[in-house]
Amino acid sequence: MVDNHAHTTFSDGVLSVEQLIAQVTARGVRPSVADHCSGDVRGALHTVDDVRVYLDEIERHDVLRGGEFCWHDSLWRELPDDLAARFTHRIGSLHGIFLPNGNLMHAFYSPWPAGLDPQAYMDAHVDNVEAFAAEMPVDILAHPTLLPMKLRKMPLEELWTEPREERAVAALARAGIAFEISNRYRPHERFVRRAADAGVRISLGSDGHTAEQVGQLAWPRELAARVGVREDELFDPLVHGGRAR
Ligand SMILES: [Zn+2]
Ligand SMILES: [Zn+2]
Repeated sequence: MVDNHAHTTFSDGVLSVEQLIAQVTARGVRPSVADHCSGDVRGALHTVDDVRVYLDEIERHDVLRGGEFCWHDSLWRELPDDLAARFTHRIGSLHGIFLPNGNLMHAFYSPWPAGLDPQAYMDAHVDNVEAFAAEMPVDILAHPTLLPMKLRKMPLEELWTEPREERAVAALARAGIAFEISNRYRPHERFVRRAADAGVRISLGSDGHTAEQVGQLAWPRELAARVGVREDELFDPLVHGGRAR
């Protein structure tokens, strides 16, 4: 079992690469490093040169080489093929959503626009999932149920209606992008089951930033099993990674 999504001091994590490997391995999980490669995350890898330095370093370790790219940021578009090919897996994140008026709604930083109806936001969110899946060369969609702060107290099932789940799952299936069960932003079971039933591969990720968090996959693993996904079917970068290459 692999933790496909965890952070180090190369972005906003607190562990060195060595410390991450030691912690995750001690939990009986195979480690990967998947730091933020985005001009829009503070303390992250902001440029192509930053990404090169990052890959040079993590290639010296026995660890899988991921990266978490913001769809709304341009760095993934600038990445030359030789660097893209050095990742064992690339993760795409919808940390920001383009609203129909063209404004970016950031999941962490943007204030909720006056008068924006949560259901209208969700329609725009699913439009973005479809656009993301159609064009971004990644292996995994990170934390598919991450939403802006204002919506986080509402039940996920009321925001992710079944037609919206259907559209998102169909987009991922068409693109061959895996659905992450995040231990940090936990999805509801109905959505994961729908993805698995549609043949979308399931990926487990702690999204850990600290020693306590990295490699913590008990909850995601249990949910994957409950929806009928066998352990050997879970996303493994060495088996399933690099769809864009
Ligand atoms: Zn993220
Ligand atoms: Zn992350």
